Amino acid sequence: MNSLKMHKRVIAVLAKEKSAIKFLEGFSGREELYKFHFYKTPHAFIRNLDKTSPAVLIIEQTFLSKVVGKNTELPILAIITGAAKKGIETAIHYQVDGYIVKPYMDVDLEYKLKTIILKNYAIEKMLSEIRELEVVVELTNMISSTLDPNEVLFSIVQKIAEVMPVSRCSIIRVDWIHRYAYVIATVEDPQAKGLKLNLKKYPEIIAALKSKKPVLIEDTDKDPRMQEVRDLIIPLGIRSILVVPILLRDKVIGTLFLRTSRTDHVFSDNEVKLLNAIGTASANALYNAFLFEQIEDEKTRLEKLSITDYLTGVYNVRYFYHRSIEEFSRSERYNLPASCLMLDIDHFKKINDTCGHKVGDKVLKEFAQVLKKGIRKSDVLARYGGEEFILLLPQTPPDGAFKEAERLRNMISRHNFRYLKGRKKITVSIGLASYPHDNVKEHEDLITFADDALFKAKNSGRNKVVIYDR
Ligand code: GH3
Ligand code: MG
Ligand code: MG
Repeated sequence: MNSLKMHKRVIAVLAKEKSAIKFLEGFSGREELYKFHFYKTPHAFIRNLDKTSPAVLIIEQTFLSKVVGKNTELPILAIITGAAKKGIETAIHYQVDGYIVKPYMDVDLEYKLKTIILKNYAIEKMLSEIRELEVVVELTNMISSTLDPNEVLFSIVQKIAEVMPVSRCSIIRVDWIHRYAYVIATVEDPQAKGLKLNLKKYPEIIAALKSKKPVLIEDTDKDPRMQEVRDLIIPLGIRSILVVPILLRDKVIGTLFLRTSRTDHVFSDNEVKLLNAIGTASANALYNAFLFEQIEDEKTRLEKLSITDYLTGVYNVRYFYHRSIEEFSRSERYNLPASCLMLDIDHFKKINDTCGHKVGDKVLKEFAQVLKKGIRKSDVLARYGGEEFILLLPQTPPDGAFKEAERLRNMISRHNFRYLKGRKKITVSIGLASYPHDNVKEHEDLITFADDALFKAKNSGRNKVVIYDR
């Protein structure tokens, strides 16, 4: 019984019988351990319950019918006045937690108050442990479900913030290879996700990484570990910090990172225990999020690879076909024009022959880059093969496409190609086909007829634009 730390507890008294009040007022334990509030009417008594949050209610049995069940679950000690038998029966009827009868004795009251408070304390503790267990169970279920791991991590920080008064709560991922840490999930600010942390400014995180144990900074003002960075954190108004390492097969892969503000509490032992359990439960989710991201990165890289030409970096034919099918059906559906240019570098063979194949490659690359810079974002430029390129101009009628082709042809003829010796100039021939046109029935017709036009351009002197069937 001595284990209970006794700070002064509020006891609300509802009594009007003189000898009872006299006894309670003179109760020896009163000054030292308790703070008694006396009320004479149930109304005032009930009204003040919320405000004063008493640990125990002492109620004269005559008032029990007015108070029991009225918006309070607080433990009740009945003080029996009048005839003892009847009074006790009433107290039992209302299922009070205890009662005292005449002759009133200090030791009796003292003992009963302590018993009730201890019992209640034990119940509260048990309830809060159950609540915490429930949180762990809930989180474990959530983590093992098939959600996106990033979502899981976000739910974890959300849950923590829900059950604990923290001002900031994040999950940090540690990258040992590149020696940095960054925020992977956070409740306070979605923008902070991905934020890289300079670990020099977080000695508490470093301490947790090194020790592989939770690090609790009770007061940032006083803890010697925070000395170096105190100036940085004082303006943040942080009182206490808890860093819980997240371990996967004995290696720290991240941490929970929680902070409370000046007006909040210091983390309790129980909370540290709970967060440790959450940290353990989060390890797999954190690792999965990491794998997930790696796979996503790899996927994007592969996707990019599979649609671009390795030498010039513009789209490849496969992607061009895919887009031209799309654009063609859009044109048909909405009755929109579309044009297609086929471009072939003039006398490219000569470049290879005189400068070598390697220079030829570089010229091809530069040629593609010059074109790419000169076209609209919505145009699709692809390498058709060798030194031939193809350009799709969505929503562009023949006139506009011809102007565009002329512009590109001129641009190329004026450009100085870096790797070419001598004049540094090349020219290009361009064939153009457009939709709508009687002969153009499917997307491939645009390509075929642009190629026909290109053939004519080559045969009629090169360095020119020829429109199909005109
Ligand atoms: P024109 O089109 O004006 O009729 O003459 P050309 O010399 O450009 O035409 P041709 O189609 O006969 O030759 C194209 C040359 O482009 C042949 C080939 O060696 C070269 N070539 C094709 N692909 C590449 C490549 O990836 N790199 C290099 N360096 N050369 C290439
Ligand atoms: Mg050529
Ligand atoms: Mg060619």
